[in-house]
Amino acid sequence: MEKYNYNKLNEYLKNRYGEKTLKICLDGGFSCPNRDGKVSTGGCIFCSGKGSGEHINSDISIENQVKNYFSSYKAKRANKFIAYFQNFTNTYDSIENLEKKYNEALIDDRIVCLSVATRPDCVNEDICRLLAKFKKRVDVWVELGLQTSNDNTGKLINRGYDTYIFKSALELLNKYQLEAIVHIMIGLPNESLDELKDTVIFLNSQNYQGIKIHSTYVVKGTKLEELYNQGKYNSIELKDYIENACYVITHINPKVIVHKISGDAPKNLLVAPEWNLHKKLILNGINRYLKENNLHQGMYYKEI
Ligand code: SF4
Repeated sequence: MEKYNYNKLNEYLKNRYGEKTLKICLDGGFSCPNRDGKVSTGGCIFCSGKGSGEHINSDISIENQVKNYFSSYKAKRANKFIAYFQNFTNTYDSIENLEKKYNEALIDDRIVCLSVATRPDCVNEDICRLLAKFKKRVDVWVELGLQTSNDNTGKLINRGYDTYIFKSALELLNKYQLEAIVHIMIGLPNESLDELKDTVIFLNSQNYQGIKIHSTYVVKGTKLEELYNQGKYNSIELKDYIENACYVITHINPKVIVHKISGDAPKNLLVAPEWNLHKKLILNGINRYLKENNLHQGMYYKEI
């Protein structure tokens, strides 16, 4: 098996669960306060109308989404699975509804982990208490969007919360010993390596267990597409993306698990950059860059 110079999720899962473990992407029928008017109606400027879950069949119940997955050819590749609530804001509902929806996904012992993606302004004590309850049955991960620690960029991308809110949410997750997976983005408007360095410095002062590094891409029907078409936003080149991603890897905590290292652009909606469609190209490029330059995760990490 190919060796990686960073903590790749697949290897972590194999060690954690003793065998290959796959993710089942679910649509829990949630909304997002940054779209329904509570915070804003526009959403983050890069967000497609599906809230980052274009490939999921959201017309059926959560339980049936899991059952359908189990009866598909994909499920034959593993025995253990992660129920991953991906679309929109998966803690944005009443505690009763959240509990019901999460329970629906845990249909049998093959589900070993419950993973929910959310916004920091939708994390509170009650939600953490509920998620902590699920820890008696399965592992629980909470994915938290940061994208950048730069609040000016946060405003520009209409994120709808500032970095302080993120920090407070992360502290709550820490308090309830919930594993936190942080999302950051490379190639955001008005950001260069300098802003990315600030984001990494900020993260190095925080306690989190996993990271998703996303490439910023432009999809149809978004505000970012408008900026792109007006010449006010240029997407990042692959070469720069690889170098920036390697900067992040070499400077973050060596213990953190890297859950993702590129974007998953929806083919039919992608406007730019084209290279985003070639996941292997990105992964191999990052791996080659690390190896050729004798780089590995955390080699420049400084605890703050
Ligand atoms: S928080 Fe997530 S779902 Fe909501 S608008 Fe932003 S990217 Fe889309």
